[in-house]
Amino acid sequence: MTRKEFIKICGLFGIGLPFTSMLSSCKKDDFSIPFKGKVLIVGAGAGGLSAGYFLKQQGTDFEIIEASSAYGGRMKINTNFADFPIPLGAEWLETSTSIFQEIVNDSSVQVNVQTIADNPDRKFINYSWFNFFEEYIIPSITNNISFNTIVQSIDYSGNKIVVNTNNGQFTADKVIVCVPLQILKDGDISFTPNLPQSKIKAINEAVVWDGFKAFFEFNTNFYGNNEYVFPITPESSGQKMYYNAAFGQNTTKNVLGLFVVGAPAQDFISRSGDDLKNFILSELDSIYANQATPNYIQHITQNWNDEPFIRGGYLTDYEDWKKVRELGNSIADKLYFAGAEYTDGEDWVSVHTAAQSAKRVIEEINN
Ligand SMILES: Cc1cc2nc3c(=O)[nH]c(=O)nc-3n(C[C@H](O)[C@H](O)[C@H](O)COP(=O)(O)OP(=O)(O)OC[C@H]3O[C@@H](n4cnc5c(N)ncnc54)[C@H](O)[C@@H]3O)c2cc1C
Repeated sequence: MTRKEFIKICGLFGIGLPFTSMLSSCKKDDFSIPFKGKVLIVGAGAGGLSAGYFLKQQGTDFEIIEASSAYGGRMKINTNFADFPIPLGAEWLETSTSIFQEIVNDSSVQVNVQTIADNPDRKFINYSWFNFFEEYIIPSITNNISFNTIVQSIDYSGNKIVVNTNNGQFTADKVIVCVPLQILKDGDISFTPNLPQSKIKAINEAVVWDGFKAFFEFNTNFYGNNEYVFPITPESSGQKMYYNAAFGQNTTKNVLGLFVVGAPAQDFISRSGDDLKNFILSELDSIYANQATPNYIQHITQNWNDEPFIRGGYLTDYEDWKKVRELGNSIADKLYFAGAEYTDGEDWVSVHTAAQSAKRVIEEINN
């Protein structure tokens, strides 16, 4: 059963979905019994940053350990290519705009984020998910993030949890793992004791799609506003489309985006340099009557499989929700999992699901 089918069935039978009011029911002042010990968060993507932010709000001692030199993970943007932020990963808002206030979780803060409907989702206007985190989430937690610190092992056998990294040892009472699923699949982090068999099985069996994006600037808009969506067979193998990346932006630039995940991404992640550029231009020429190559100005690409601490796109949309729920389960009141791939199985693989899963985990830690 896919994510969409599950949601549909829940709707049909009137089953209450656990996330629906999760964030909104947890306003800043509602953190009744904040956890008193130390929490270590592994990974500074949307999940890890949200977890840190919620802990900060309730006054719990925490630290975020990030392997790379930057926060944001798959929300990364490019700010040099155009006069609006280019979202190299997360681009669309895949839920209602009320999510911003829900993540900020403080009614005294006025959230002002402009978006425009871009069916079936919404696009940010000269803004991005990354900008939202930078403006509303990062300022209060920036001093709690350690960069270039790669977690290698987590020993949760004793009273205190011992975390080993390339930059020395950390100890904590609770650890929230917020790394991409592929990092766990590849065994980068060893656990003592071993993770439960059910969790290992879910990690091994869950399918992570490859991920690639490209942005091409042209002299004219010969592609219009309609997305060119490739039919992928079977649908569960992936998704691929060209779209107007400048749609809704305050810009005069013509920027075409390519979004591709799953099997069709192989054509792109297996190429580089001029080979990659020419492959995309010739594909565009064949769709748009040879208008791409003569109008080409510049391009950028993002191969998510090549990112050393990400190594893929995201967990397939078609994953079994029960497996996703298993990925999100905590272990022994010590080890927790948050991020886009570790939810309770209603929805996954979006920035907002990463934030929601962080909220769920903080509530669990507090109890
Ligand atoms: C091509 C693409 C398009 C997308 N489009 C959208 C979209 O339009 N809308 C949307 O909502 N979502 C979209 N997503 C999904 C969204 O980007 C992710 O679901 C979300 O950003 C993931 O957040 P996260 O915190 O779970 O993981 P990540 O953002 O991956 O963060 C994990 C962090 O863990 C760090 N890390 C890894 N290993 C270690 C280690 N050993 N020690 C310490 N740190 C470590 C990484 O460096 C990284 O910073 C897209 C993703 C991709 C790839």
